[in-house]
Amino acid sequence: GPTLLFVKTSQGKEDGRRFYACSACRDRKDCNFFQWEDEKVSDTRLAARAEYNRNHQPSFTHRQNVDRYKNFVLLPLSKRRFCQECQQLLLPAEWEKHSDHRFLCDITTAQLKSPSQLLYPLENKKTNAQYLFADRSCQFLLNLLINLGFRRVLSVGTPRLHEMIQSKASQEEEFSVRSLLLDIDFRYSQFYTEDEFCHYNMFNHHFFGGEAARETCRKFLYEENGEKVIMVTDPPFGGLVEALGSSFKKLMAMWRETEEEGHDNKEMPMFWIFPYFFESRILDFFPNFSMMDYQVDYDNHALYKHGKTGRRQSPVRIFTNLTPSMIVLPEEEGYRFCTICQRYVSSGNQHCEICNSCTSKDGRRWKHCDLCKKCVKPSWSHCNNCNCCTVQKHSCEKTDVGCYVCGKAGHKRSACPSLS
Ligand code: SAH
Ligand code: ZN
Ligand code: ZN
Ligand code: ZN
Ligand code: ZN
Repeated sequence: GPTLLFVKTSQGKEDGRRFYACSACRDRKDCNFFQWEDEKVSDTRLAARAEYNRNHQPSFTHRQNVDRYKNFVLLPLSKRRFCQECQQLLLPAEWEKHSDHRFLCDITTAQLKSPSQLLYPLENKKTNAQYLFADRSCQFLLNLLINLGFRRVLSVGTPRLHEMIQSKASQEEEFSVRSLLLDIDFRYSQFYTEDEFCHYNMFNHHFFGGEAARETCRKFLYEENGEKVIMVTDPPFGGLVEALGSSFKKLMAMWRETEEEGHDNKEMPMFWIFPYFFESRILDFFPNFSMMDYQVDYDNHALYKHGKTGRRQSPVRIFTNLTPSMIVLPEEEGYRFCTICQRYVSSGNQHCEICNSCTSKDGRRWKHCDLCKKCVKPSWSHCNNCNCCTVQKHSCEKTDVGCYVCGKAGHKRSACPSLS
């Protein structure tokens, strides 16, 4: 899909020529596309690019994968194999070609219904950064949106939530929630039809399946029979908030346009799952959003697990345009309702009389600084040099701009300790 136009900045000012680069891959090893904004590209180079793209298509189309799946489920258990190296369901005629690959045998229907368990998470790749919800968090999200009355979920980069909905829908008669997965991970096309999965890039709002896929999404967003839609997204944390935000606005516009009356001035309800230190960037883009205290836990992220054992707590939160008081957080996991703030907060999050709000972002009790006129992390103290509260160990250097992610000086976003 389309590239993004980037500009290098230093000291808050544009610095140098602007250039186009891949929207999805933050690592140049994954995609080395580079073009100056004002560069003239020769026909030979354009042809070479087209040739490269042709040679780098997936081995099967989504359509072909759907047909393969139909054949696969007809096979007896003993003939159902999954190649772990190619991350592909194999039909018997293909065994030969994969004979020296590692593969799994006897793939059950249950396994086919949980592709996120069968596929390995693409976690070390900066591009995909696949961190799967812990079962508890996934269950919590699903119950929450069901209790809020939603019957359709646009799952953008949330394969595990999608999978939970799909498998409940196929098992429980009275379960009436539906989900459409939009994700860049094309491996999922082996398990879902074109009505259940669209190959999609959330950094440039690109549907790889073209107009047909776009139409699938549009149809899904159309609230037939009063079935309310919510979008749930959990993007890679290294992603540019501006790029994500503008794609999400396009999805919101798609939703708005499905209704003749244009949904009045309403906005498509949304959960954007992202670390708390991105709060100000998200609010820049969506000023009506609020951040919930709920800590989202992950399976394959040891540091981010909800710990009884004193492990680090997850920094990942839910940002939403729904009224905060409607988002009920589980008391048994240590959340309570603050009647003044009219929202659920972490039990450690004390209401500050001066700020008149429950100010903690990380669940620990924060302390108020009279000089900064706001609450700060418990470990911070006020530095008269810097004229603000900060960590004890810091060098009092004056820099105009800091890291894109956390705002602190001394490192770039790629090296931000918050993201590591
Ligand atoms: N917690 C979620 C997974 C989040 S990981 C769950 O358990 O369901 C981030 C997801 O975003 C992955 O599924 C990844 O494939 C997808 N993703 C990464 N980059 C993307 C892009 N550019 N466009 C769309 N999806 C992307
Ligand atoms: Zn193989
Ligand atoms: Zn409060
Ligand atoms: Zn305060
Ligand atoms: Zn201070």
